Amino acid sequence: MLWGARVIVPIQGRQKVLEELHDTHPGVSKMKALARSYVWWPGLDDDIASLVKSCGRCQSTRSAPVVAQLHPWEWPSKPWCRLHIDFAGPFMGKMFIVIVDAMSKWLDVQVMKSITASETIKTLKMLFSTHGIPQKIVSDKGPTFTSDEFKKFMHANGVRHITSAPYHPSTNGLAERAVQTFKQALRQMEGESVEDKLARFLLNYRITPHSTTGVAPAELLMGRKLRTRFDLWLPDLQMSVEKKQWKQKQCHDKKKPVREFQTGQKVYAEDFASKSERWISGVIQEVTGGPVSYKIRLEDGRVIRRHVDNVRSRDSAISQTSTSVEKAGIVIDAATEQNLSTDNEFSVVSFNPTQPESTTSTPPPESTQSLPADVGMTSSVNENSNSERSSEVLPASIEPTIEPSASAGNQSIASRRSARVRSPPDRYGFEKK
Ligand SMILES: [Zn+2]
Repeated sequence: MLWGARVIVPIQGRQKVLEELHDTHPGVSKMKALARSYVWWPGLDDDIASLVKSCGRCQSTRSAPVVAQLHPWEWPSKPWCRLHIDFAGPFMGKMFIVIVDAMSKWLDVQVMKSITASETIKTLKMLFSTHGIPQKIVSDKGPTFTSDEFKKFMHANGVRHITSAPYHPSTNGLAERAVQTFKQALRQMEGESVEDKLARFLLNYRITPHSTTGVAPAELLMGRKLRTRFDLWLPDLQMSVEKKQWKQKQCHDKKKPVREFQTGQKVYAEDFASKSERWISGVIQEVTGGPVSYKIRLEDGRVIRRHVDNVRSRDSAISQTSTSVEKAGIVIDAATEQNLSTDNEFSVVSFNPTQPESTTSTPPPESTQSLPADVGMTSSVNENSNSERSSEVLPASIEPTIEPSASAGNQSIASRRSARVRSPPDRYGFEKK
């Protein structure tokens, strides 16, 4: 059952949903904001409030962080134009760099080996490789940020570096608040390691509508909703699309011959490292991961692993191509598929063209309910119950339709959202002023 874009959770599923929302102890308002993106039931807000009230961790550290007087920065019209950065720590035995995008409120926190200029530059370079180079960076006047090395890096990349006036840290209040937020969250969370807690906190933070923008940081920066385990609660429209594509893929593959190599067969394997010699000689040592992946012993003694697409026969007597029907009737199980490179994930299944489609079709790896990628982000308690939970929460009869009928509350959500959507951030015009 859906209420707008939100799932109406039946009574028996509510406790589990509350526990998920509470995973990083985000506090009442953030929990409510996150809940509103996914679920609804009568009295949801009250349930959240009483849960937080009864949570010792939430209460013990709930002393409101000191609100720094913010320097009146303008709100950039585009994401990733102005970043605020700061260091935090030593905290839980580690140093951190904290980066906030002024427009989207996207937050990045990374563990630092040290806070030298070169380590900081290394971290920022990786970050810029993902999101691009910002126009401005705001920091305090710490020795790292005022070093020649850092100045040079800023200059070389055309970044305007703004440092806060000494003893007037409010210029960079955005970063300082973020430091408080992340420290508080990590203190409250349970988890195996700092990195584990950090990853869970960051994902949660990035998908939760921010109090000042009303939109999740990820949506403003990336222009899309990130998929999370909360999506397991929603009917999977995507799944039906993928199934269809999978079928089309199978039809396409029927026309292609199936290639296979035997152990001991002489082959050429594509050498990705070499520029001069693209194909190097070797012998098939082992068929791994089904008939599409091979361990190949090269003439120089190295053993490499290659996908069938990157292997050619070297023996003219035995054809590299085997189109015979006997060899073609192979279905690779899901475990095997996961071992293979994701680039090829839709080309790993061979099939028997003589058999009816239904007997050989394997669903695409992404369409199962238990999602390995997401499981890694959950706490150990949730890991085991991931797939169970989704079936408990979702009524079996869920229709993948979004009902346009709306009550007043629904209207306000819809209009708030659509107002944002109508003027999407210009994510490709960083250079333009
Ligand atoms: Zn709590």
